[in-house]
Amino acid sequence: MIDGYHRTIDYLRISITDRCNLRCRYCMPVDLPFRSHDEILRYEEIERVCRAAVRAGIRHVRVTGGEPLVRKGCLDFLERLKQMPGIETVAVTTNGVLLEEAAPRLAAMGIDSVNISLDTLREDTFQKIAQRDLFREVWKGLMTAIEAGLRVKVNCVPQRGVNDGELEAMARLAEQYPIDVRFIEMMPMGYGDETPTIGSEEIEERFRAAFPGLQVCGERRGFGPAHYYEVPGFQGKIGIIDAVSHCFCQECNRIRLSSEGFLKLCLYYDQGVDLRALLRSGAADEELFQAIKQAVAQKPARHGFDSGRREESRTMSQIGG
Ligand code: SAM
Ligand code: SF4
Repeated sequence: MIDGYHRTIDYLRISITDRCNLRCRYCMPVDLPFRSHDEILRYEEIERVCRAAVRAGIRHVRVTGGEPLVRKGCLDFLERLKQMPGIETVAVTTNGVLLEEAAPRLAAMGIDSVNISLDTLREDTFQKIAQRDLFREVWKGLMTAIEAGLRVKVNCVPQRGVNDGELEAMARLAEQYPIDVRFIEMMPMGYGDETPTIGSEEIEERFRAAFPGLQVCGERRGFGPAHYYEVPGFQGKIGIIDAVSHCFCQECNRIRLSSEGFLKLCLYYDQGVDLRALLRSGAADEELFQAIKQAVAQKPARHGFDSGRREESRTMSQIGG
């Protein structure tokens, strides 16, 4: 699919639930009301959207949430996605809490990559950020995923005054294990606005000082906007994702499906199309396909995070990151 700015759109992020077993402060409030089960797309409905999206040119999907592994039937759904003709890669983004049990099956079904969100290596800081005492479960999930042979990326959101003393230690996970560790600038969305982040330039400067021989890596890994760095002796790479301070919108390849079936065109805007209304009014596959294509043609040129205005009222847990 080519959008109005000549970008190829071949990547769909699918949020299968707005529920979560953590309450990361920058993502969702403790008392956020969840959508009722009726409001959330059934798996069959998501799969219909996927088939139409594949016909329109989507080749890569990432399943996210909320926390995707809390939704019953998630692993069966992932297995069906893996087998769907036209889909080349299926990845998952998870907080890792339920990964210890899921990892062997994810590996067996051939999941292409698992992103694990982990902002700290300290139990007390984890409790402070995620507001749940589940650090050990996440750590076991991470270790099991590595042992199962999954391609693992750890995603860390640097937060000033919270985990900023640990960024080098987090990066060293890529020395100790064959995984990439990526640092993602906090986006001023939802509750992210209230947590001061650390800019990519400052992080790069710190890593240059801490890791002699750190070099920008030309290789593009995956479909994301990360800049990657190699460090001599490290098994994996370090990535820095600076969507806010450096706009990479001209290379954007993605659209998002929320758990209630809203096809969202840009993280920053609330603009998109209500596919649930179409699905539940008896639309034919052709209508779904046309709706997706027409929506993509309207994809905005770039985000406006730097404008100071907020166009999206959903939280990150509702969008899926
Ligand atoms: N629960 C899963 C997880 O945590 O990996 C998947 C959903 S979560 C919304 C996806 C990612 O969004 C997480 O890595 C989280 O750290 C990130 N995130 C949430 N709010 C954010 C914000 N305001 N800015 C940047 N990243 C954010
Ligand atoms: Fe849940 Fe992920 Fe949001 Fe944390 S970042 S509250 S784990 S959805």
